Amino acid sequence: MTDQVSQTIQPTVTEIATDSHQAVYRVEAPEVGLTGFIALHSTTRGPAAGGLRMRPYASEAEALTDVLRLSEGMSYKNAAADLPLGGGKAVILGDPATQKSPALLKSFARAIEGLGGSYWTAEDMGMTTADMAILRSEAQYVAGLADGAFASGDPSPVTARGVFNAIRIGAKHRFGSDDLAGKRITVQGLGNVGWNLCGMLAEAGAKLIVTDVDAARVARAVTNFGAEAVALDAIYGVEADIFAPCAIGAILNARTIPQLKVKLVAGGANNQLEEARDAGLLAARGILYAPDYVANGGGIINVASEILRVHNTGPWVAGRLQALEATMDSLLTRAAREGKSPAVIADRMMAEMLVPMAAE
Ligand code: NAD
Repeated sequence: MTDQVSQTIQPTVTEIATDSHQAVYRVEAPEVGLTGFIALHSTTRGPAAGGLRMRPYASEAEALTDVLRLSEGMSYKNAAADLPLGGGKAVILGDPATQKSPALLKSFARAIEGLGGSYWTAEDMGMTTADMAILRSEAQYVAGLADGAFASGDPSPVTARGVFNAIRIGAKHRFGSDDLAGKRITVQGLGNVGWNLCGMLAEAGAKLIVTDVDAARVARAVTNFGAEAVALDAIYGVEADIFAPCAIGAILNARTIPQLKVKLVAGGANNQLEEARDAGLLAARGILYAPDYVANGGGIINVASEILRVHNTGPWVAGRLQALEATMDSLLTRAAREGKSPAVIADRMMAEMLVPMAAE
């Protein structure tokens, strides 16, 4: 109740010097317990877009490192989806379960509004559509809303469609055919993305082997999709054609890669490689890797329809998904031609797309 009558606290926004990013801001309002950062990696392609994350970071330095890394990743993801958007991200320090308040969110929204549209936010870890609505009360540049004109809703089905397309393109390159009928596909994580993906894979005739920490979801997948269930850590060693990570990051690493008995990895999870060199470990084992930020770009396409105020969303999203698929196809072709990991080629291709057009 007090929130409705209290004034929104104007935060102190301080620009931080950076060589790697276009602009980085520290946002602070001690009255509401707010410390956070907004990083604009690149606005070459358009306003920087990327979600707001709230986490109990151990230090400001850790939060800053995260926002710098994530905003760069968004530049690449948005370029891969051929969106007229740059890369940005925001983080707030704190436990969302106990330290998030409308006053804190509104104060942070003032900082977003103060950037005049050079940064657009949406949900990330620790944020909900209800939080986006609170931010929207103080800032125009907020997407991922549940209601209202151009509201794009849950991006997961579109993300899953993009991942499904990535699996088909990967299969075309690795097996010589994009037909998934009879292919054994392991799926880690049966949440919003993984569940939708399983539906599409089952419909395409794939044989699913699944795992999740949530036993009820696993049981449902067994019933609904005729999937085989395996224990959490057993998923890495399953003999299959394709592995689709759809749960958490950093699951492709020096411990798991030697266990893999698949020929293609293509999934929806963010930051699947624990370290850049893990792409080399996969290649050395003859496992084709479909870069995650290209495979899962459907989600940002869905959010972009809201930012860009697209009227005819269905055909527009479908067109962008097709472009994403073409990008995956051409980067896998280039990787094979140059004998390099698709992860390396993807980063290089996206970096090229971020270079401003030379003046006439
Ligand atoms: P979600 O929270 O709905 O689902 C994640 C699922 O993974 C849950 O069912 C959870 O129980 C399970 N899980 C967690 N840890 C696990 C583990 N160690 N082993 C097996 N299962 C585990 O999340 P989501 O929206 O489906 O997103 C999944 C991944 O895709 C995340 O990495 C997310 O960042 C990424 N992603 C999602 C979207 C989107 O549109 N939702 C877009 C781009 C990227």
